Amino acid sequence: MAAQSMGYRVCVLDPVADGPAGAVSERQIVAAYDDLGALEQLAALCAAVTTEFENVPAPSLRQLARDCLVRPPADAVAVAQDRIAEKRFVLACGIEVVPHAVVTARTDVQSIDSALFPAILKTAHLGYDGKGQVDVVGREDLHTAWLQLRSVDCVLEQRLALRRELSVIVARGSDGAKAYFPVIENEHRNGILATSMIPAQLDAQQAQRAHAIAARIADALQYVGVLCVELFETDHGQLLVNEIAPRPHNSGHATIEACASSQFAQQVRALAGMPLGDTALLTPAIMLNLLGDLWFGSDGAPQAPAFEQVLAIPGACLHLYGKRDARPGRKMGHVTVLGQSLALAHQRASRVTDILGLEPPRPVAPGACQQTLP
Ligand code: ADP
Ligand code: MG
Repeated sequence: MAAQSMGYRVCVLDPVADGPAGAVSERQIVAAYDDLGALEQLAALCAAVTTEFENVPAPSLRQLARDCLVRPPADAVAVAQDRIAEKRFVLACGIEVVPHAVVTARTDVQSIDSALFPAILKTAHLGYDGKGQVDVVGREDLHTAWLQLRSVDCVLEQRLALRRELSVIVARGSDGAKAYFPVIENEHRNGILATSMIPAQLDAQQAQRAHAIAARIADALQYVGVLCVELFETDHGQLLVNEIAPRPHNSGHATIEACASSQFAQQVRALAGMPLGDTALLTPAIMLNLLGDLWFGSDGAPQAPAFEQVLAIPGACLHLYGKRDARPGRKMGHVTVLGQSLALAHQRASRVTDILGLEPPRPVAPGACQQTLP
């Protein structure tokens, strides 16, 4: 939709015929992501190709890159597709990650540092929204957990006490120019993003550190397009990279209304070789994810969420993605709530969560935002 608003025509390759992107595109190719014929057809139709989903196989992106522009580059996407490679890459940039160990069939369980427990075992590939993760209390539980994840390659991460979760969304052009959005503060529930607040409640120095981390990673990847870096802030204020996402990110959806250019507009600009847009914050905002659970009552019977009440709240903007089936835990849409101050956005967002029967977003401390963009 961002591309179309700039006059481009869009073709989507999606294995699913009735997916949300296909419904708003001029053309759709329904095929698997590794269907060679379909990739050839896509490359012939398009001047440039990007991905909205990080598990498009990197070899498919390499294939496309023979015939048209592909941004972000396949090599950068490949790093983000593999938690083991990702952690190695971030460490090689001189940036800290969560203490972890690689777990594969060759791992000697006894050799793993006891300090990592209690831990989370995560599959190296294809995890999202907390899927592909199992809690591991102690060393004795590790083998069972690994079997539960079908014995694939994994990383075992220390479970950290987090002060906050943050994300940095940065757009990088092919000339290396970068445009950063304000740091975003995220709240996850059950491994799934629940709320995002823009700007995060950070002092100027901490925001600067977060932006610098994202810059270093984007440059090292020779990235072109929109990149999200998920950060953990520990109880001691240390910033660690959790993971990176090579695409516009759920935590950045509020940029549609809250910033001069949205993360999607930035993706189009980077893809088309246009100058990057202004990332300035127009108004603070809180984004609330709408999961499929909302479409079911407490008795499990289907219900329609009370969006007519939500939309009566000033500053509330509703986005539904047009997914056909609501399922518990499935991201169906989001509400962005704007306010002239974070406190006002929070007040309004709490009214929305009240209506929908959701937990309110974490409280906002008065006067805590002092971010300036690099
Ligand atoms: P996904 O690919 O599903 O987003 P993440 O690794 O980002 O996987 O984990 C999802 C969420 O689970 C995180 O945003 C965080 O809330 C929680 N989490 C993940 N790893 C840790 C950890 N090592 N310590 C504490 N919480 C964690
Ligand atoms: Mg994540």
